[in-house]
Amino acid sequence: LLTSSINSRATWAREYATTFTDTSAALGRRLEGQVAVITGAASGIGEATARSFIAHGARVIIADIQDEAGTKLAKDLGPNAHFVHCDVSKEDDVSESMGLAVSVYGQLDIMYNNAGILMPKSMRGFTGISDLNLADMHEVFRTNVYGVALGIKHAARVMKPQRRGCIICTASTASIQGGLASHQYTVSKHAVVGLTRSSASELSEYGIRVNCVSPTIIMTPLLELVLCNPHLKKKLGDWRTSEAGCNLSQTFLSPDEVAKAALFLASDGNYISGHNLVIDGSRSVTGSPKLFPLETDDG
Ligand code: NAD
Repeated sequence: LLTSSINSRATWAREYATTFTDTSAALGRRLEGQVAVITGAASGIGEATARSFIAHGARVIIADIQDEAGTKLAKDLGPNAHFVHCDVSKEDDVSESMGLAVSVYGQLDIMYNNAGILMPKSMRGFTGISDLNLADMHEVFRTNVYGVALGIKHAARVMKPQRRGCIICTASTASIQGGLASHQYTVSKHAVVGLTRSSASELSEYGIRVNCVSPTIIMTPLLELVLCNPHLKKKLGDWRTSEAGCNLSQTFLSPDEVAKAALFLASDGNYISGHNLVIDGSRSVTGSPKLFPLETDDG
């Protein structure tokens, strides 16, 4: 009994050593040979993630409605990047972008549903609930909710037969808190978490993991519409310079930090599914203003 126990321990140790060595070898380029579709990749978080995934050995389909910026980025990133015009609210565009991954690169391993809008261009401010405009809500939902649902749907169609895959979505800290953005945006990001959990539950038996990331405010072009509104611009400025806005080591969040979280979920998070990874330097759990540590007389 003892011998067999020792033998099985030795086998375990050998397997562990092999796994550990493989993992270490892969740490340099964590997505070697994998293929990803990233929506909203012509700018901001999507662009940073495309750059990071390619640096880690992946081939990436940059799917966006900004043809000029997307084409330029793909050229800049070289042969491992390919741009496709994709409006995530249009089902044909979404399924074609995934078809392209398979036809150009032969497979689809990672689908990152990142495209999103803060508000329609026609909406100039955040209205209260008593003035809620359902047309604006529909417009936000078309990209932020239906776009994500379509991305998960068509990724699942490709990934289920291969019985593996990783789906990531960009939600927001507005997915766990009220008062950070418009009602339309807040509800849309709560829905992204719902879609993540619901599809993670269904797709786990196929070995497909579904997670979302929830960043706090980042200065990307998404916020341009806010910055055009003097009232919102002032509020955002006050928030940024407050303790609550700049919570961790007095630095603000950058798209690269979100790209790191996406890379972790895509490469190392092998048993993580249905999770909402909040990236806010603890702001959502700290509250505002911070009361501790309290100053005391004896310091
Ligand atoms: P961004 O404006 O830099 O990038 C968004 C990209 O999505 C753009 O390239 C845009 O062309 C694309 N896009 C918009 N509608 C699209 C559609 N229908 N189909 C395809 N592409 C479309 O902004 P970002 O900050 O990088 O935003 C990326 C994601 O992060 C969004 O889902 C956003 O809601 C979320 N987010 C942003 C912040 C922030 O403060 N910037 C915070 C939390 C979450």
